[in-house]
Amino acid sequence: MEFNVFEYFKDYKPPTTDGPMTPEAQGASFFLGGPMGKRIREQVEPYADKAGMSRRAFFGTASGFAATMLAVNKITGMQFFEVTEAEAADQVAAKEIMISRKAGPDFIVDVHTHICTRKDGYIPGVNSTEKGMWFVRLLDDLGKAQGLPNGTKDMTVENFGKLILEGSDTSVAIFNPFGFREDYGGKDMIPIEEQVEIRNRWPDRSVMLGGGLTPNQGLSETLERLHMFVEQYKISGLKLYTFDSTPARGWWFDDEKKAYPIWEECRKLGIKNIGCHKGIPFGQFMARYAHPEDFDAVADDFLDLNFIAYHSAWPYHGELAALRMFKPQRTNMYAEVGSTFAATVSSRPMECAHVLGTLLRDLGPDYVMWGTDSCLWGNPQWQIDAFRKFQIPDQLVEGYGYSKLTPEIKAKVFGQNAARIWNLKATA
Ligand SMILES: [Zn+2]
Repeated sequence: MEFNVFEYFKDYKPPTTDGPMTPEAQGASFFLGGPMGKRIREQVEPYADKAGMSRRAFFGTASGFAATMLAVNKITGMQFFEVTEAEAADQVAAKEIMISRKAGPDFIVDVHTHICTRKDGYIPGVNSTEKGMWFVRLLDDLGKAQGLPNGTKDMTVENFGKLILEGSDTSVAIFNPFGFREDYGGKDMIPIEEQVEIRNRWPDRSVMLGGGLTPNQGLSETLERLHMFVEQYKISGLKLYTFDSTPARGWWFDDEKKAYPIWEECRKLGIKNIGCHKGIPFGQFMARYAHPEDFDAVADDFLDLNFIAYHSAWPYHGELAALRMFKPQRTNMYAEVGSTFAATVSSRPMECAHVLGTLLRDLGPDYVMWGTDSCLWGNPQWQIDAFRKFQIPDQLVEGYGYSKLTPEIKAKVFGQNAARIWNLKATA
């Protein structure tokens, strides 16, 4: 099996006592599961002792998460997180600081959210292939590591509301489909008639994208599905996958025969925002189709459409960034940081700083958008807290021409950029 960024969660043992994990406990568990885990633990334990709490309970508090981020600064000798001793040492200080940061221009649009259940379930050999089951198992493991005891079975509409809309500072969630019909008995992994329930329940706080358009399954069928999504379900954009499980194994956005008819139809139907999974070339799919090179021609040929590279094409984010660094006239190419931020911030802060630094320097601060890939990653609050505190250390600013993550830049990434392209209004 190919390299799997999530692989190390497989041995994670979810807590068996005391009910659900707090978002802080979820976040801390990823830091502790990474290569600095042992040293983070050693650094944080004295704070737990001082607070008079069990170590495990302490990691589930705001102070415990602050102490975890402070430990990363100490271990690396670099300022990756703007976090104070007071936040790490004092429960009240940690809470106060977090609450005061909620106020103001904190409009958060999570461009990348999912549910992952369907009424038919995923039954090996019946409605799911081996490849299809591999992906379900990966998401099961990730969910369990995030305190969802039944994995994908807990990634429901109900929990989407509880974890993302009620349980975090997220203002608006844009939810993404999973298609992959070849792997799930000829039916989308998450059928649109089931996922529309989210928008029906939270019409002011959710935006729905259509997906599962795979031109290798037949172009006319693909265009028919696009029409159905628009007319029947009023989608606000697309989130597609250029790798697939047809014999061709994938396609490109700049394919004039297979893809351009889709974009021409999008134009006619008023669909402007078109996302694609790029980077994170996971298990059952071909890595070559996760490269963003096809954005080059299509962005030039469809200047009135926005192309969004989900996952920021990491670890190929440099290729994506180059498509604007050398073509600064371009204004319709975006990156979204879901899973990429979560995976790097918790175990490779230097890489996280390079990814964000490169995207913001080359694509520009108006073209990078927040996303968490929740509820695959459980409650997104720990990611929000980590991004609020995350900073690019001075050494990298000097050496690479990155900018510091100012409050203005964070506000653009957190919500303003997505609000602009989806016409969302921030309420007070
Ligand atoms: Zn996703």
